[in-house]
Amino acid sequence: MNIPAIAVHGGSGTIASSINDPIIKKNYLDALQEALEAGFSLLKSDGTALEAVTKAVTVLEDCELFNAGKGSVFTSKGDHEMDAAIMDGKTLGAGAVAGIKGIKNPVLFADDIMKNTPFVFLAGSEAMEYARRQEYEFMPDSYFFTELRYDQWTSLRGTGEVKLDHSSENGHKFGTVGAVAVDSGGNLAAATSTGGMTNKAWGRVGDSPLIGAGTYANNETCAVSCTGHGEYFIRGVVAYDVSCLMEYGGMSLEQAANEAIFKRLKKLGGEGGLIAVDAQGNICLPFNTEGMYRGLKNNMQTMTQIL
Ligand code: ASP
Repeated sequence: MNIPAIAVHGGSGTIASSINDPIIKKNYLDALQEALEAGFSLLKSDGTALEAVTKAVTVLEDCELFNAGKGSVFTSKGDHEMDAAIMDGKTLGAGAVAGIKGIKNPVLFADDIMKNTPFVFLAGSEAMEYARRQEYEFMPDSYFFTELRYDQWTSLRGTGEVKLDHSSENGHKFGTVGAVAVDSGGNLAAATSTGGMTNKAWGRVGDSPLIGAGTYANNETCAVSCTGHGEYFIRGVVAYDVSCLMEYGGMSLEQAANEAIFKRLKKLGGEGGLIAVDAQGNICLPFNTEGMYRGLKNNMQTMTQIL
């Protein structure tokens, strides 16, 4: 038993060569570290897993290096549409939002939906209506604008092509963000937040806000947050698949996470990775891409890594 514990990710994919710049690399690792510390300090002071993942994801949303909250990628229309989800492994309560604009921390909106509405998933303009009534903190477009995301978008604008934000060589900002945690009581939680894919159109929604696809938590098995090409994670119902492989297949967390990423997702043709934790504090961070921005922290160790 090694609890409490937390893991975070900041996206997976092809890692731009600019990461070899020690300053750029340090910025990413420091941001992951900050999220880990923020979440873990809550866990150490008897905070819940739910509070820890919410805090860690909020820190990453506020960091413009990642594709979530500030720093989200541009849609085909040149704005930002964000998706987020959160799940409580103790109650199986869940909250999710898709296609929302202007909200500083989409994960807090998802958390609010879970706690204060009879629903799980709100989307689009009607969800925004609800947010306005709740007096959420809205930010101007300029808050979400970053030069690199803009350049990534202008290179695709008008082509109809859609790209994972981290699959281009011409920049060093990557990633959907996520966190999973187990608290001192053995309760699990997961949260994921993203701007989606650059140049996405027609209301495209990826796996991140879909409970079971990109985000899942169940005290009986594990908590999972995914990152990668969302269409494949949706079709593979990857986060829930890890849980099912444990529950019905009798696999350990490591066996289940590896099976999901290296065999099942690969067979579908999907690229990406996930972070997962179980009630004993085992942590698994598999990815089938070149790299994944990731980190973990428990009482024994702290680790952040990219490749
Ligand atoms: N999974 C996200 C999506 O498809 C993208 C990512 O993980 O970077 O929207």
